[in-house]
Amino acid sequence: MISPVFLHIGTPERGRIWAERLTQDIPGIEVRQYPDAGDPARITHVGAWTLPEGLLDTFPNLRFLISVGAGVDQLDLSAVPAGVPVLRMVDPALAEGMSEYVAAGVLSLHRDLHHYRAAARQGAWTHRPQMRAADRRVGVLGLGMLGTSALAALAPFGFQLSGWARSRHDIPGVTCFAGQAELTTFLRDVDILVCLLPLTPDTRGILNADLFDALPRGAAIINAGRGGHLVEGDLLAALEDGRIGAAILDVFDHEPLPADHPFWRHPAVEVTPHIASATLPASSARVVVEAVRADLDGRPLPGLIDRATNY
Ligand code: NAP
Repeated sequence: MISPVFLHIGTPERGRIWAERLTQDIPGIEVRQYPDAGDPARITHVGAWTLPEGLLDTFPNLRFLISVGAGVDQLDLSAVPAGVPVLRMVDPALAEGMSEYVAAGVLSLHRDLHHYRAAARQGAWTHRPQMRAADRRVGVLGLGMLGTSALAALAPFGFQLSGWARSRHDIPGVTCFAGQAELTTFLRDVDILVCLLPLTPDTRGILNADLFDALPRGAAIINAGRGGHLVEGDLLAALEDGRIGAAILDVFDHEPLPADHPFWRHPAVEVTPHIASATLPASSARVVVEAVRADLDGRPLPGLIDRATNY
């Protein structure tokens, strides 16, 4: 193989941190920052959040493309040459951040903190009935790196935990459901639903009126997957008639969420600006180093995307 040349496409700040780590840990590697790609025939590895159109076609010796994020939905995979492996960011720091976000959201909903925050702003001393965690059912859509780690973070509180994925999982302390055929059964016993699915053609729009109808009346949702999972109008309607009691939303169809969007001012909705778990330059640099090393050593590539399922 020709000596490795890694092209970083993204903020120069992250590029600098990745370059430092790569050159320190991988002898002979060269790191370039887009648009200074140099000779396209020398580029062996690319790290990017999104891709300039047609760019990858100009790299005849490309060995893999790694996404800067845990998801790859922001990349136009049809523009990635068929033989080029696509990797997602499998970074323990991403799982930590997401576990914190989900635990904070679930606890806030469980203890009605959104209600108390609103009441406090009115100077209102009001009480809501308190419920034991053991009586609260929390379900997670997606049992991958982030879903399983969020469930592990919730376990010590004693919630009744369940999860749903495409394939059958076996997670101690979590009732697991698999596939479309078991989705409604899963939803029937969920008070707080957390979406941590990847956005694919199969999962787009999954948080819709049918799903809200399948949940117990007044259930809450947390969407930290992607905005494309949620049918926003269906959620507003379900909040309006009480089918859904509250929502914590981190991701949106259009980001930034427009200032006049009804979610911002809805009393039962909390909006965060896609911060549930950010890719941190230093920890992601270690993941990138490991991915390049695996490739150079001929080992399996970490976070390899199945081009048939898009995740
Ligand atoms: P992952 O490890 O690839 O796990 C994906 C999970 O979703 C798997 O359990 C998979 O099922 C399940 N799944 C996929 N398609 C499905 C379908 N059609 N029906 C049922 N289950 C399906 O992904 P991850 O690392 O946990 O990340 C999940 C997503 O979180 C990312 O893709 C990204 O969109 C989002 N994310 C958001 C933020 C944020 O800040 N808001 C940050 C990072 C990531 P199997 O286990 O059966 O394969």
